[in-house]
Amino acid sequence: MKEWTMKLFGRKPKGSMNCHQVGAVLQEFLDGDIDEERARRIEEHLEECRRCGLEAETYERIKATLAAQRPDVPEESVERLREFGERLARGEEPSSQ
Ligand SMILES: [Zn+2]
Repeated sequence: MKEWTMKLFGRKPKGSMNCHQVGAVLQEFLDGDIDEERARRIEEHLEECRRCGLEAETYERIKATLAAQRPDVPEESVERLREFGERLARGEEPSSQ
């Protein structure tokens, strides 16, 4: 019933999203955890909508602050650093792939 109603009334031209829809997935979008098609639509909305754009900015700032306070390094960087160290230990050029 809910899905049927949404299909009937939720349609908008050019598949643009409203504030509520953007808000629901904004966090995933900012974390890069979203598909390209939706990301593009959200970007469009953020450019047009000051309120959501501001919300996105605030979230980014909070995330940056948290990252600065917590000294843990992303897993990928740790992995790269580990490989770097192993290559050095084997006497290889670190830059060689
Ligand atoms: Zn909005």
